[in-house]
Amino acid sequence: MIDYIIVGFGLGGSVLASHLEGEGKSVYIIDGSDKKASVVAAGLFNPIVLKRYTMSWNGHAQLQYAKLFYENLGCNLKTSIVEEFPVYRRFHSAEEQNNWFEKIDQPELSTYLSPYLVEQPTKAIVAPFKYGQVMKTGRILIQKMLDAYTKQLVNKAAFKNEDFDYDLLEIKKNYVQYKGVKAKRIVFCEGYGIKKNPFFNHLLLVGNKGTYLIIECKDLQLKAAVKSHFFIVPLGNNRYKFGATYEQQIKGGNYDLAAKAHLISCLDDLITVPYKIIDQVTAVRPTVKDRRPLAGSHHKHENVFVMNGLGTRGVMIAPTVAKQMVDFMEYKKPLPNEINCNRYKSKADY
Ligand SMILES: Cc1cc2nc3c(=O)[nH]c(=O)nc-3n(C[C@H](O)[C@H](O)[C@H](O)COP(=O)(O)OP(=O)(O)OC[C@H]3O[C@@H](n4cnc5c(N)ncnc54)[C@H](O)[C@@H]3O)c2cc1C
Repeated sequence: MIDYIIVGFGLGGSVLASHLEGEGKSVYIIDGSDKKASVVAAGLFNPIVLKRYTMSWNGHAQLQYAKLFYENLGCNLKTSIVEEFPVYRRFHSAEEQNNWFEKIDQPELSTYLSPYLVEQPTKAIVAPFKYGQVMKTGRILIQKMLDAYTKQLVNKAAFKNEDFDYDLLEIKKNYVQYKGVKAKRIVFCEGYGIKKNPFFNHLLLVGNKGTYLIIECKDLQLKAAVKSHFFIVPLGNNRYKFGATYEQQIKGGNYDLAAKAHLISCLDDLITVPYKIIDQVTAVRPTVKDRRPLAGSHHKHENVFVMNGLGTRGVMIAPTVAKQMVDFMEYKKPLPNEINCNRYKSKADY
C-alpha cells in the first residue's frame, strides 16, 4: 500500500508531493488533461500588493519559506527553477510616487520597497513619473519544474496521466482504493477542477479567469518585470507575457476575444516599439470567496483531503500550505482556522 494518492499536479499537487516525499512518504499522482492555471501563470513571486503598497497576507513569511523550498526542489530535480529580478511599478502620477515614499519606512515593507526611483529600465516605455522598485522578487519557472518532476515520477511509475473518475473511488476505514491502487490517504488538488469533485464542490471556490498575451519584441530589452495597468514579464529570447486580465466571468468565446482586444489596446498605449503577438493563454485562478486557501479533510471521510484555493499568489502560498497540510495529516497539528476548509462545512450536502 502506498501512502498518498494526489489528484492534480499543478502547483498545489506538485508542491504537496515534494513535501510528502521529503517526509519519506510514497505518492502516486493522477493528473488530467484540463488546462492548468499553473502553466499559464507568469509564476511571479512578489509579496507587495502593488495597488496600495501593502504586504500581502502573511507575505513576508510565505516568501522566505517559498524561496528556500523552490531552491531545494530545483536541486532535487537537477534544474534551476528560480529566476530573480526586480518588479518595477510604473507610477502614473506624482500622488502615486508620494504614496510609495510614505510606505518605504514601514519596517515590514522597507526590505522590499527601494527608496530610489528608477528612471528608464527600457526606452520603449514612456514613464514621466518614473518607477518604484520592488526588491527580492522574481519568478518560478513552473512549467520547467512540473516537467522535470513529472519525469522523475514517471520513472518511478508514480504518475498517471488521466482524468480522475470520482465514481470509482472506494473509501474504506483505513485506506482508499482507486483502479487497483491502494493508499492510506487521498488528497485532491484540482484547482478549478474541484467544481466537478462531489466531495468538495460545496467549498466556495469562485474562480477568476486570467488571460495573457505572449509577445515577441526585440526592442523592449527588459530584464525586470514592469507593472503598469498590467504586468510585462520577461520570458527570455525577446519574449514577454503581458497581462493578465482579471475576470469574474468564466465563459470563453467572445469573452476571450474581448480580453485579447483589451490587452492589445493597453499594450499599444504602453510601449512605443513594434511587437508580434505569438500566443494568447487563458486559465482560471482558483480563488475563494474569502481569499484564503482551502485545506483539510472531508467532514465525513478522515482519509480524504483537499488542498486548493491558492488564488492569485499560488507560487508564494503553496509551500506554506503544503507544509501545514503535512503537519496536519501526519502529525495531527491543527490547521489555522482561516485556511481550514471546515469553515465551509455548513455548505456541504450531507
Ligand atoms: C492568468 C493567470 C496568471 C497568474 N499569475 C500568477 C503569478 O504570476 N504568480 C502566482 O503566484 N500565481 C499566479 N497565478 C495563480 C496560480 O497560477 C494558481 O494559484 C496556481 O497555479 C493554482 O495551482 P493548482 O495546482 O491549485 O491548480 P492548477 O494549476 O489548475 O492545477 C490543477 C491540476 O489538476 C488537474 N485536475 C483537475 N481536475 C482533475 C481530475 N478530475 N482528474 C485529474 N486531474 C485533474 C488539472 O488537469 C491540473 O493539472 C495566476 C493564475 C492565472 C490563471
